[in-house]
Amino acid sequence: MSKILKSGAARSNITPLLGTSLAGYFNDRKAVDVLDDLHAKALVLDNGETKIALVVCDLIVLEGEYVNRARQIIESHCGIPPENVMISCTHTHTGPATAGLLGVDKEEEYLEFLVPRIADSVQMANRRLQDAQIGIGVGHEERLTFNRRYWMKDGTVRTNPGYKNPDIVRPAAPIDPDVGVMRVIGADSQTIALLTNFALHYVGGGPSDAVSADYFAFWADSIQRMHEEKFIAILANGCCGDINNVDVNNPPSRTGGYEHAKHVAAILAADVFSVSENLRFSPECRLAAVREKLNIPIRPITNEDVKKARQMLNGASEPLNRDQAYARELLFLAEMEPKIETEVQVIAINDLAIVALPGEMFVEIGLEIKRQSPFKYTFVVELANDYVGYVPTVKAFDEGGYETMFARSSKLAPEAATQFTESAVRLLGKFQK
Ligand SMILES: [Zn+2]
Repeated sequence: MSKILKSGAARSNITPLLGTSLAGYFNDRKAVDVLDDLHAKALVLDNGETKIALVVCDLIVLEGEYVNRARQIIESHCGIPPENVMISCTHTHTGPATAGLLGVDKEEEYLEFLVPRIADSVQMANRRLQDAQIGIGVGHEERLTFNRRYWMKDGTVRTNPGYKNPDIVRPAAPIDPDVGVMRVIGADSQTIALLTNFALHYVGGGPSDAVSADYFAFWADSIQRMHEEKFIAILANGCCGDINNVDVNNPPSRTGGYEHAKHVAAILAADVFSVSENLRFSPECRLAAVREKLNIPIRPITNEDVKKARQMLNGASEPLNRDQAYARELLFLAEMEPKIETEVQVIAINDLAIVALPGEMFVEIGLEIKRQSPFKYTFVVELANDYVGYVPTVKAFDEGGYETMFARSSKLAPEAATQFTESAVRLLGKFQK
């Protein structure tokens, strides 16, 4: 039964203090400037029976422990049950170190500030509920993204082989050209929020030691300018573990700072604008959410591996070289439980299903879930509700390349991709059409 919709949206500022370690490169950088603020952006949908909160944060990743703490606050303040709350990250590479990653330690103090700020965004959105209508559509964009893994002339697969590399043969996998659009308008036809789903790692280009929400923020500015309105513009990343914006055949003509990122953001905003201006809106809204827990094994570690890693680090000094950095990662991994528990969630909004997956998912995982989905529209959002590292396909493990190198940012066994896909398809099948 679909019921009449109410909706509210809000954002809270989650910009870290200067001096905070930033994550996303292979070394630690302390923030020395803020180019644009980071936000947690929340959209609450309420049909009188079910309430859903969708939150996207301008962060690289967020582990389940912090997501669940934010969900608890949201439940106590807004009465929204944890399974109805999705919290994901854009994957900006110029945000705080919210997890221990290659070269950086976790910024614990920042995380203590962050958790209630995420809950604040939902609490404010929940206060602003008003009569609303919803429209959903999908656009198509294949000029902005590239699969960053390439077959090379020597028979290997390389990640990011560089511009004009003469040894490139062809990309090792596809892209996902879908531009998912969900627009919510109020009774006065003013836009309350617009949520887009597009698979692109990030764009970058700016100074590495300045805080920025990257192209995700430039997109939000552009789309509001095109609509000539202020609203909450949310860009939820798709399955982009192996997708970037580097056209190896055509180096960008705009260089310096974020000029190229702004260009990419404007093109995506134009795509979204054309879809969002041609939607059919409905005041009726069916809402439902389901999730399931998954136990996924970490790739096995032998005593011999640990011995070798210790030997490699014996007498090593900072900064560590590449092999030493991975040896350090192996020692971290050897301390972990052999299995991790994580979750997959599906939120149904009329004929749209939003699938929330917890890692840096390879694009084929999202494509396969969409192929098997019984819904008219399916958005697959990565880095949602937890962070489990890269999730390459089984085929990619055979091919090798950066994303399959064993580290805290890539630790799961090759069968993880199948486990996530099967779980998502199982959950999608639970909804009565
Ligand atoms: Zn990344």
